[in-house]
Amino acid sequence: MALEPDIPGELDESRRCDPHDVALKSFFLGPQSENADWFGEILRGVVTSYVSWRRRKYPCDGRAISDSDQRLPEFRRRRAELVTEVHRLLHRFEEEVPKFSPRYVGHMFSETSLPAMIGHVITLLHNPNNVSGESSRVGVELESEALAALAQMLGFDSARARGHFTSGGTVANFEAMVRARRRMEHWMAVGVAAIEEGMEALSLCQAAHMGWEMRDDLHPHLGDEQISAFELSAHNPYEAAQVIQSIFGATYRGPVILVPDHKHYSWVKGAELLGLGKEAFWSVKLDERGVMCVEHLRERIEEAHDKDRPVMMVVSVAGTTELGAFDPVDEVQNLLDRLARRKNLHVYHHVDAAYGGFFAADVCGNWESCGLTDGVCRALGAIRRANSVTLDPHKLGYVPYSSGAFITARSREYFANSVDAPYLDFEAGTDRGPQTIEGSRSAAGAVATWLTARTIGLDADGYGRILRRTVQARKRMQDELESCKAPTRIIPATSNVLAFCVAHDGEPLSVTNERTQRLYEAFSPRQESPFFVSRTRLRFSEYGAMLTPFTGQWDAEADEEELVLLRLCVMNPFLDSRETDVDFPAAFARAVDRYSR
Ligand SMILES: *Cc1c(COP(=O)(O)O)cnc(C)c1O
Repeated sequence: MALEPDIPGELDESRRCDPHDVALKSFFLGPQSENADWFGEILRGVVTSYVSWRRRKYPCDGRAISDSDQRLPEFRRRRAELVTEVHRLLHRFEEEVPKFSPRYVGHMFSETSLPAMIGHVITLLHNPNNVSGESSRVGVELESEALAALAQMLGFDSARARGHFTSGGTVANFEAMVRARRRMEHWMAVGVAAIEEGMEALSLCQAAHMGWEMRDDLHPHLGDEQISAFELSAHNPYEAAQVIQSIFGATYRGPVILVPDHKHYSWVKGAELLGLGKEAFWSVKLDERGVMCVEHLRERIEEAHDKDRPVMMVVSVAGTTELGAFDPVDEVQNLLDRLARRKNLHVYHHVDAAYGGFFAADVCGNWESCGLTDGVCRALGAIRRANSVTLDPHKLGYVPYSSGAFITARSREYFANSVDAPYLDFEAGTDRGPQTIEGSRSAAGAVATWLTARTIGLDADGYGRILRRTVQARKRMQDELESCKAPTRIIPATSNVLAFCVAHDGEPLSVTNERTQRLYEAFSPRQESPFFVSRTRLRFSEYGAMLTPFTGQWDAEADEEELVLLRLCVMNPFLDSRETDVDFPAAFARAVDRYSR
């Protein structure tokens, strides 16, 4: 379809960019591959340096492929075949979703940064396997450094924090579940052993939530073997459960996990994978802002306690997948801290910051001017108080797939797979392999993040600037949508995700949802469109507190259980550029107008 170019207006002085913002343009290829020469030069340099390294390494070994081999017709024929296939492949990829373009505002990816791509390519050439130091000498070091940079961005004490890169947020969330369960079961085992020894009179929940202090007091008086006899997963969980049952005199029904109702589907997968059973998944209600209701969390913890169900973990989300909204991480942690202080119940808190964690780069130095609300800043600032966190550099880190990260605040909560080693020698085991869910792990995602951190910077002046601009771009997009003729209804946004629909006053939801579906098809990445968006469905059963007043604004007739919305992840660094011939936010709003008629 024809794309309408906007008439480029005179650049108003006041709208000219800050030179520091302009400088950040050097870190991306650019929508028209503006930085192509430079990028090509660096890539050629990378290849030259890599081949020269190989030649210098064992210069006396002699050549295995001679000039005459390379001249052989058969040799040349096979090479020519490869070249043909490469061209075919490049041609096929021309059908790929053009994520680099500001016209792509769909899912949580966009342009990848040049440092990230270069880090990726260099690692690809060396191909280290970060499973252990013997298969990766430099890769594992770079991974540690990249993790320290991420931990520092989030405000963790990087000397104590520990973690590793994963293939993404899903696996990082699994890693958290494994640790939370491990910790809980260990405390339970210590508790049971202490009861058996007549040292303590604890309830099941008191044991499962005893905290490291009590555990460290009890541990020296109990043998490791005695403790491990009661470790659920170290033996037969069904038999161990019976022992626990006989000691506490009540049926042991397993732990629960408390996750807000906007949960990412990885949590459901994880609960299944761990064999906790669907019933163990207790959801926490959302409030009128579409984020976790802390009061309901408190009630659910109490309910679990009353029913003798240990809380394996509480999850809060910093940047929800649907709306980019932030749970009140600080209030959740305050609640858990109070429980620890008043009742000595220590509950594991994981923050799923897969999407939103990188906003912490801005908050670090820039609370006032970051463009985020106070609530979001407080949530970001509280991540470091939690037990662990998930981050996805392959989302707002502008790093290529696959790159996720799992970080624990304290190294002792990192070790999950051995009963003895972790608690006897915290420093031991520099190899991550025994502790990671994944086995062989590429270092590419870690190195891409490393080079990005070294160049763009995970601070207010680097990522902070980029992300701040994405929030501004989202606001621009919102202004344009609000001023277009179609009656757009926009969910109040707090970061750079925008969700909206077009709805006429008094219209039934079914009509609105159908229109949204049509709009989505017009902007679907499955085909060629002037813009690409994603779509989400918010159900009243989960989002009711927010949706009822929202749809009430236009007196919608609630004839369906859900509201379908177009969802825009406004993260392309050039979406709101003043230099381009197209004013993307304005052009998008016009397209919405046109398609909603
Ligand atoms: C994206 C996302 C995940 C899952 O991450 P993947 O990298 O897709 O595996 C988990 N939680 C949240 C909140 C996310 O946004």
